[in-house]
Amino acid sequence: MAAEEHADDALGQELTDQEVDFSRWYTQVIRRSKLADYAPVRGCMVIRPYGYALWERMQALLDARIKATGHVNAYFPLLVPEELLQKEAEHVEGFAPEVAWVTHAGQNELEQRYCIRPTSEAIIGAMYSRWIESWRDLPVLINQWCNVMRWEKVTRLFLRTSEFLWQEGHTVHATADEAAEEVRRMLDVYEAFIREDLALSVVRGEKTARERFAGAEETFSVEGLMRDGRALQCGTSHNLGQHFARVFDITFQNQDGERKFAYQTSWGVSTRLIGALVMGHGDDGGLMLPPRVAPTQVVIVPIWRKEKDRAAVLEMVDEVRALLRPVARVEADLDDTTTPGWKFNEHELRGVPVRLEIGPRDVKNRSVVLVRRLNRQKEFVPLGELAARVPALLDEVQAAILARSVVYREENTREAADWPQFQTLMTETRGFIEANWCGDEDCEKAVQQETTATIRCLPLDRDPAVGKCVHCGAPATERALFAKAY
Ligand SMILES: [Zn+2]
Repeated sequence: MAAEEHADDALGQELTDQEVDFSRWYTQVIRRSKLADYAPVRGCMVIRPYGYALWERMQALLDARIKATGHVNAYFPLLVPEELLQKEAEHVEGFAPEVAWVTHAGQNELEQRYCIRPTSEAIIGAMYSRWIESWRDLPVLINQWCNVMRWEKVTRLFLRTSEFLWQEGHTVHATADEAAEEVRRMLDVYEAFIREDLALSVVRGEKTARERFAGAEETFSVEGLMRDGRALQCGTSHNLGQHFARVFDITFQNQDGERKFAYQTSWGVSTRLIGALVMGHGDDGGLMLPPRVAPTQVVIVPIWRKEKDRAAVLEMVDEVRALLRPVARVEADLDDTTTPGWKFNEHELRGVPVRLEIGPRDVKNRSVVLVRRLNRQKEFVPLGELAARVPALLDEVQAAILARSVVYREENTREAADWPQFQTLMTETRGFIEANWCGDEDCEKAVQQETTATIRCLPLDRDPAVGKCVHCGAPATERALFAKAY
């Protein structure tokens, strides 16, 4: 990471407003909320306990969805022998510039180099060719949670780091139809997870040939819109056809006794999704975490001015904490060295969905104040109703954050009828632009060169293309979704 990036982010300064410098806001929020920090390793970051707790929540929720659709977890080696990786030319070519190699063990040069997995198609393919014999062995529905490494020249916390955490599903099927179904099933699993658990509204679609995964026949993705109007690819699902099966000799005997090549899929999401949460929901106050994934859902802040009130307030904090523990992830901020006002800011920065205030008057009334991070809306709740009210409030906040995300995406999805309008929209408002496209890769490339925008996807629920390509004027074949992307 560049030295000026560190200087830029002096921790004592006010948080930069999103409108002033979104990129600086992003880095400041991540470092100050202690989600992550730069590591003394080129291109790598440290996920700090608060960030890792968030990842664990996300992982648990997605893992349950992956298992509910019939998949099981396994673990394959970090190192891939060069010989295996080289087997698939297109795949190798796609990853070659960013592959890290292990060449020595101690002082001795290895006879064969090993790459640190950039993804695991090769090593998993080699195992599948041993394990699969007949149609009875299919389908194979395996997922792996692990780290991967892709040497990046430019790095950004969570969005682009040389090492990152992810899950990669690798499945094998007897027929092309089953594989195609699986690819769409997992795309839907991702969309539902991101919408229901992360409260982000995303678009499902197919990637163009140019944006396809190296070696895949079809790639589908879910695309989110961040609050600076840029898109972020949030997950991908690939139909590998028989491509890797032919290379790694993954065959099976069908029910007629014939030997056939199998059909494969792979799909993944990564810690990049934490970047999506930060940029998709955050505001000038900092993070805004949806309750379902927030490591802390409710923070209790005691308030007293006179020393004589202290004991009674703290006693009620204990009582409330015990009351809420069975129904929410709750913490109390009992730090004596900071003021309540400072604590309000701090927990807003950390994106804690609900703040609970207890002062001397609340002790007397046997009630507390609940404040939503989303809009600072306040409500007074009697102690007797608290254990029922908090879970309901967390659901309301979850739904409100999603609704805000839906509105943002809808308001920032615009249609461009011609090229001047496209350029104006891309310069002035950014966001998603729906427009006609001719289907030609050179035209797609030219759009990027002129505007830096790319085709994010061809949305699954797109209208048929009628008319001319927005860029070159040739007859349109597709209705595409364009954006400037991370
Ligand atoms: Zn065109």
